[in-house]
Amino acid sequence: MARKRILTGDRPTGPLHLGHYVGSVQNRLALQDEYECFFIVADIHTLTTRPERPHIAEMRGNIRAIVADYLACGIDPERSVMFVQSAVPETFELTTLLSMLVSVPRLERVPSLKDMANAANLDVMPYGLLGYPVLQAADILLPRAHLVPVGKDNESQVEVSRELARRFNNLYGEVFPEPEVLIGDVPSLVGTDGGAKMSKSLDNAIYLSDDAKTVDRKVMGMFTDPNRVRADIPGRVEGNPVFIYHDAFNPDTAEVDDLKSRYREGKVGDVEVKKKLAGAINAFLDPIRARRAEIAGDEQQIDRILTAGNEAARTEAAATMSLVRSAMGIAG
Ligand code: ATP
Ligand code: MG
Repeated sequence: MARKRILTGDRPTGPLHLGHYVGSVQNRLALQDEYECFFIVADIHTLTTRPERPHIAEMRGNIRAIVADYLACGIDPERSVMFVQSAVPETFELTTLLSMLVSVPRLERVPSLKDMANAANLDVMPYGLLGYPVLQAADILLPRAHLVPVGKDNESQVEVSRELARRFNNLYGEVFPEPEVLIGDVPSLVGTDGGAKMSKSLDNAIYLSDDAKTVDRKVMGMFTDPNRVRADIPGRVEGNPVFIYHDAFNPDTAEVDDLKSRYREGKVGDVEVKKKLAGAINAFLDPIRARRAEIAGDEQQIDRILTAGNEAARTEAAATMSLVRSAMGIAG
C-alpha cells in the first residue's frame, strides 16, 4: 500500500531557528520514512505581508539557506521532496477554486492573520493575506497530504484546510484526504527575550546556523526571572525561558533537575544555569553544524535538489488538478 503523505514547510523570510526545530522539523525527521514527505519553501506566502521588490530580492538567498538548514538537520533529498511554492503554478489554480468554498467571516476569524498584519504594520487587511489559509490549503491539498506537522500558531490555519477538503469532497466527490495537524513537542517555543514566540522578525531567535560563540552570547543575554536580582533569592522555574530551553534541549535530566531545585532555593546563579544551557544547545547543534559543513556553500547541489523537487511536486500537482477538474466537471 502506498505510504501516506506529509506536507509542511516554511516561508523564506530568514533561516530556521530552534522554534522551527521543536515545532515542526523534529516531527518531519521522525516521520521521513513512514510518510512520503513534501517540504515546501513557501515564497508566495511571504508576499502576503512583504510584496515589495527588495523582499523578493532577498528570497533566493533565503530559499537556499532554508534548504541548507533542512539538509543540515538530516532531511534526505533521496527520501523527501523539497520544493519552492512558486515553481508549482497549479497552486494558483487550486487556490482560486478553493476560495469559492470559504466565507470572508470564516477567514476573518483565523487569529494568526491579524497578528501577521500587525507585525507587518499593515493597517488594512490585504486580500491576499486574508487568503493566506486558502493558499496554504492549496499547498497541502495538491499532494493530497494526510498529515501536516506545524507549530501551534499554524493550527488554526490547517483547520481551514480541513474544512476546505471536507467541503470540496461533499460538493464534488472524494478527492482529498482530510489533513490532520501534528503539533511539535514544544508547541510554541518562547523567544530569548521571554516573548511569546521565538520569531525571525522579533530578533529573539537562536538560529540553527548560529556558531557556538553566538549561541553563548545569546544565551547569556536571555530573559530569566525578573524578580531574581541576586543569586540567593529563590527563583521561579515555571515559565522561565532558560528552563523551558533546558527542558527542550538538555538531555541530561539529572543536571536539569539539580539546577531547577537549586534555582528554587536560591542556591545557584543565573550564570551557571546559562552556561550549562549554552553548552547543551551547542551540543544539540553540533551534529547539525557538522552536516552543514559538508554541504556549506554548495549552491549547485542545493539548486539541483530544488530542480528535482520542483519537478516531483509539479507532477503530483498536475495529477491532482486533473482529478479536481474532472470531479468538478470544469470544461476547459
Ligand atoms: P517567524 O515567526 O519566526 O518569523 P515564521 O512563523 O515566519 O517564523 P513560518 O515559516 O511561518 O516561520 O513557520 C514555519 C513553521 O515553524 C510553522 O509550522 C510554525 O508553526 C513553526 N514555528 C515558527 N516559530 C515557532 C516557534 N517559536 N515555536 C514552535 N513552532 C514554530
Ligand atoms: Mg509564522
